[in-house]
Parts: sequence; structure tokens; C-alpha cells
Amino acid sequence: MLIAFDFDGTLSDSEMTVLLGEEAGVADEIDEITERAMNDEISYAESLYARAELLDGLEEPHVEVGFDRVSLRPGSADVIEALSAAGHHVAILTGGFDRGVEKALDAAGTSVDTIVANRLPIRNGKLTGNAEGPLIEGTKDDALAALAEDLDIPMADTVAIGDGANDLPMLEVAGLAVGYEPKPAVEPHCDVLVSSMAELREVLETEGVL
Ligand SMILES: [Mg+2]
Repeated sequence: MLIAFDFDGTLSDSEMTVLLGEEAGVADEIDEITERAMNDEISYAESLYARAELLDGLEEPHVEVGFDRVSLRPGSADVIEALSAAGHHVAILTGGFDRGVEKALDAAGTSVDTIVANRLPIRNGKLTGNAEGPLIEGTKDDALAALAEDLDIPMADTVAIGDGANDLPMLEVAGLAVGYEPKPAVEPHCDVLVSSMAELREVLETEGVL
């Protein structure tokens, strides 16, 4: 099977752009914009570009500190390992950034099969204020479908786990849609809700995935 996780708010209990915002002194503004996007009040693309702009000029060492603080929530690595051991393809589809995801996985001593993420470009040692990547204008349903097709896995054999409005498209097309403490706009679209990695594991066992 193909198991697709969102990252911020799902595998991690932090929000990467907020951690970077703390380094730039704009965490509150970024948090507010993120909340509005996750509740589907503004588009994800609009929110990400606005957040990237607030981070304009942040110097590389501070960017590094922000990404170093990204971590998995307790139990995430165990669930990833159990899914991999069961022979499933584990993917992370995130509007967050590849560097933060990779650092968090490394720190937890785990890895996944596929990461689809965005990037914050750096020029002359500073963030440019822009963002780029496949999941800004692109949506997670297309990313999930493309990956499933590559792997020759039917959509019925996919599981999506997410919490925010940008997860809605993939939750709607996945065989099983799991909401991890989902936002109110997302909850009605989930087949099952969980609020911890232990609960997620139980759901995956009940559904015969683990
Ligand atoms: Mg999320």
C-alpha cells in the first residue's frame, strides 16, 4: 500500500514556517496566516507566498537553526518504521520544506521512501522572500495520484493522514482518509480521526494496514 503523511501538524507537532519566523521575529504574523490557510479561509499558495515574504532576508545560519528545531512528534518514527517493515511505501507530501523534513527524519533516525516538499530559495546567504516547489500551486491529490501510478498501486490501496485544508484534496481521493486532530474545515472529510500516534497505529491495525 501507499501511505501518505502530511508533515506539519501531523508527523510533527510544530509548523516549520513558524519556527523560521521565530528566528526572524515574525512568528505571530506567520502563525496567524498559517491558521487562516489551514482553516481554508485563504488559499495555501497565497499563505505560503505571504509567509515566505515575511522571512525575506533571514540569514542562512538562522535558517539552519530554524530547520534544526523541526522534529517529529513522539511515536511518529515508530509508526513509519512499522509501515516500512510491513512492506508499504511511505511518503511525506508537505507544503513545508525539504530541509526541515530531512533534518527531523535524520534526528529521529528514520527515513521514508518519498518526500514531496517545497523549498525556500537562498541567494547571497539569505532567504529571497520567495518559495518554490510542487506543492504551492500543485495539490496533494495530484501528487498522491502520480505517486500511486508510478508505484502501480490502486488509489483504493492508499492511506492519507493529514490535518489541514491543504490535505483535503488527498484525503478525498485516498482509499482511507485519517484526520490527525484535523481543523474544523477538514474533519467532515475524514473516514476516521486520531489524536495521537498510538491511536493512529490502532486504526492502521484495525484497518489491516499493520
Ligand atoms: Mg498539516
